[in-house]
This record gives sequence, structure tokens and C-alpha cells, in this order.
Amino acid sequence: MATKKDYYEILGVPRNASQEEIKKAYRRLAIKYHPDRNPDNKEEAEKKFKEISEAYEVLSDPEKRRIYDQYGHEGLNGVFKNGNFSWQNFSHFDDLRDIFGDNFGHFFEDIFDTFFGTGTASRARRYRANQTYRNRGEDIRISIPLSLREIVEGTKKKVKLKRYEVCDACGGKGSKSGKEETCPVCGGTGVVRNVKRTFFGQFIQESVCHNCGGRGYILKDPCPVCHGTGRVKKEVEIEINIPPGLRDGEYLIVRGEGNIGERGGPRGDLYVFVREEAHPVFKREGEDLHTEVEIPFSTAVLGGNIEIDTVTGEKLRLKLKPGIQCGTVLKIPKKGVPRQGRRGDLYVKINLKTPQKVSREMKKLFEKLRDLGS
Ligand SMILES: [Zn+2]
Ligand SMILES: [Zn+2]
Repeated sequence: MATKKDYYEILGVPRNASQEEIKKAYRRLAIKYHPDRNPDNKEEAEKKFKEISEAYEVLSDPEKRRIYDQYGHEGLNGVFKNGNFSWQNFSHFDDLRDIFGDNFGHFFEDIFDTFFGTGTASRARRYRANQTYRNRGEDIRISIPLSLREIVEGTKKKVKLKRYEVCDACGGKGSKSGKEETCPVCGGTGVVRNVKRTFFGQFIQESVCHNCGGRGYILKDPCPVCHGTGRVKKEVEIEINIPPGLRDGEYLIVRGEGNIGERGGPRGDLYVFVREEAHPVFKREGEDLHTEVEIPFSTAVLGGNIEIDTVTGEKLRLKLKPGIQCGTVLKIPKKGVPRQGRRGDLYVKINLKTPQKVSREMKKLFEKLRDLGS
């Protein structure tokens, strides 16, 4: 019997490593040896991948780890059949899913199919059992630009969309007669079986039948306009209600405004992403708005009323105290962006307007002011 490598050595952790350290080490190595990342050295990577998974299976389980610590590899004879680890012994597929996320790859999906039946094969079965779900139309995503004013006030927007609508030629049925015949490729099961070789060994893999798309039947006289799908792309115009206060990048879901499903299936949803256009005058910070205003020198000294425009076109009167400094920021409560029942504030920065053209009389007065020490 060939000597097996020490599990701690394989994962590169000390014998007193914590569960957290073991998990971390496995994570690092699993990413390193993922076969998809080692296309030039696949076989070696597959071997390593299995090796670290075996070590992880034992060391991440307190009971197996205790046996291993005490008796070594011999001790695990009763745990793994004949002492040999196989993927059937591996109980941490969820960890792999966490590690690889969306990049999980077909390798593992195959395994899931085989062990847990949660993949394509069972999905096809479920689809047939639940016609409504199978036929639901796809969601649509669009993005619409909104001015700051539209965001503050809320608005209604008309948008043009290209989406699947009922095929008029067949009334959405997909064929004139509606007659179906059993799919000759899958014999009506919607599923075809292949023998598949992966690095975990050989498996029977089930996949959705391409001839009938998993339906198990084909239409006898498919509609020539929609090719039996019961739907065609059309341009439509719809109106969308935009509530006030949305932020750039946020989206609304409009239920039932996506594509219609095949052969009378229900519609998907419409996702409307908001793009906030920059405003030439107002800057938005969260739900607060910022603007600047220029006042004449005399108003700064003497005080007085000024008028400012808000983002919605409303005029606001502000009373300035005598002696206001250039750069002062005034806060006007609740004139910002409304959102979820609250409303931000408006901040107005005061700037001084220095006159550039002065009449002879004004010049005399400014000279007098200068002489008075102002
Ligand atoms: Zn078929
Ligand atoms: Zn049709």
C-alpha cells in the first residue's frame, strides 16, 4: 500500500489548526486547483483537487479528525469504503458553491445532478409539472434618464419597448390545430440521458431534450409566423409611474410588463433602472440639494430680501441679515429631495457679486466708502 500524505500537510496547516484556518486553507487551494483554472495541467489539478477535498472532508469534521489524529489513515477505513475516499464521501458541496459562486462551473453542476438531482434533469421534470412556471415570459431591463426635477416631483414616463406579444396569426396557441405529438427524441419525457466522463468518474447525465425544449411534445402544424412559440416581438409604448426620490442606479419593478410567455404563458416583469442627469445649478448629496446665489455688495452690508429659484421652479424668498459674509451657507429645511416620507434640505451658499461696470456716480460713492474705511 502506497503511503498516503498527511492531511495537515496537504492543506498546509498546523496540527492544532482551528476550523476557520482549515476552511481558509481549503478555500485557497480549491481556487488554485480548480480544473477550469488549470487548462494546461488539468489532470494534475484534478488529482490535487480531490486530494485537498479528502483532507478537508476529514479535518473539517471533529469526529473524523479525532479518529485521524489518533489512528492515522488506517483509522478511517471504516469511514471511507475500503479506506478510499471517493466523491460520494464528500459532504461539503455547499462550501464549494460558496467558494466558486457563479463560476462554479459545469464540473460541479454535473456532480450535483448526479448526487442530489437538483440540476437540469430535475428542473426539466419540474417545468413539465408546472406548466405556468415553464411558460413565464422573460423579464426586461431598461434604463431611463430622469432630470433632478423629475426625481423631486415624481413623474409619469412614456417609454417604447420591443417585447414579445401574442402572435396574431395563431392567437398565441402556436399552431392552428393545437395538435401535439410525442417528441420522438426523448419519447415524451423531455429529458435525454448521456454517459458523461468527468474527473469524478463516469456518470449518467440527464439533460433537457433539445428537440422539444423539455416539453416532451412537438406541435403538428406549428404556426409559420411565430414558429410555434405563440409570440412575436412588437414595439409597444407604455407609461411608467415614477415615484419621487429615486437615486441614480436604483430600479423599479413593474409587474407583468415584461415579455409574454410562450403559448399563452404569463408575462415577466419590467425592471426600470434610473439614471439621474446632472443638473446645471443644483447638486444632489443624498437627499439634500446644494446651490449658490450671488448678491450685491449693498445687500450683503445692509441686509434685505432675495429670491431664489428651486429645482421645481418655485420661487423662495430669503431674508438676509445685515453684514452677511461671502461664503455663508444658509439651510432651508425640507426643500430637498423627498424620499420615503422624509425630505432633505436645501443649502444655499451666498456669493458676492462685484460690480464690473460702475457709473461715475457709483464710483464716487465707492471712493467715499473707501475713504471712510469700508
Ligand atoms: Zn424531446
Ligand atoms: Zn403564431
